[in-house]
Amino acid sequence: MASVKDFCFDLAGKALRFAPGSRRFSDWSGPRKSQIVMYHRVLPQAEPFSIDPALSPDFRRHMRLLKRQFRVVPLAEMITAWEAGRDLPGAVAVTFDDGYRDNYLHAFPILKEEGVPATIFLATDFIGTGGMPWHDRVLAGFRDARAQNFAYPEAGIAEGPMGEAPHRRGLAFRILGWLKRFTPEDREKHIAAMLMQCNPENREREPLMLDWREVRAMLPHGITFGAHTLSHPILSRLTPQAIEAEVIGSKLAIEKETGVPVTLFAYPNGQPGDYNEDCKAILKKSGFSCAVSTSAGVNTPDTDRFALRRRHVWDATADGFYFRFLLERLRA
Ligand SMILES: [Zn+2]
Repeated sequence: MASVKDFCFDLAGKALRFAPGSRRFSDWSGPRKSQIVMYHRVLPQAEPFSIDPALSPDFRRHMRLLKRQFRVVPLAEMITAWEAGRDLPGAVAVTFDDGYRDNYLHAFPILKEEGVPATIFLATDFIGTGGMPWHDRVLAGFRDARAQNFAYPEAGIAEGPMGEAPHRRGLAFRILGWLKRFTPEDREKHIAAMLMQCNPENREREPLMLDWREVRAMLPHGITFGAHTLSHPILSRLTPQAIEAEVIGSKLAIEKETGVPVTLFAYPNGQPGDYNEDCKAILKKSGFSCAVSTSAGVNTPDTDRFALRRRHVWDATADGFYFRFLLERLRA
């Protein structure tokens, strides 16, 4: 049965067909506008204890829809064009944050087949070490919890049953939101106390994050790597010295392992309060050419290169994502 989403996509299709005298939607919707899309994970099936996964068939459809009406370019090429004073009509860049192993297993084959370049931002402490970002440690703790009850009054969670997976997932996401306000040290204390309560089952699992061999295997096939700090802290909560260590440490680790200079950066969490002028100054003096946020929107050559906007892909369907992507461009 046709749904609202089908209708919306049909509407977008009609808009494309009625584009007066031009082949591409991007040609008449603002040639100076460039968009960046942001993914975290790409998985063959739904995984409730994961942040915003795109399913493989949807991801392939996203790539095909983008290719149809836009010019998908490496993020670095967008920056180089702006620096040279050139417009890059209809430019779109595809990015991934954190460095999940599924980027190699499930996204990379599709990117290769579709001929789409992409940038992966690595939180380097977790690459090839068996570690994972703090948000994934919390999610895994609630996924594998053996405890029957959970209480964390400080986070506003009164004692109650752990319950089935959907309930445990709800608890975990509530806690993730709450934990973002802390310094890394305080956050770790809370995570340790919560995980102790969860008492997760200790099962052998496949590594969650990429290793350097996988990173290097993607390099010759249009995949660029950018820095995303060492340990994925929220930078505005750190001292300038600690910000510098996170930013430069991550850049040097990638350069050492790939032999390629790193000029692109993504702010962890990436909302306006998560980075500040100290961060921008440190990035500029450390040889970065841009930094991407997680604020939605369209970029032009005049946008602050150290606060570039990105569109997340949390829509229920591939067509829903695409429609919102087109609308964002028309409105900007
Ligand atoms: Zn991240």
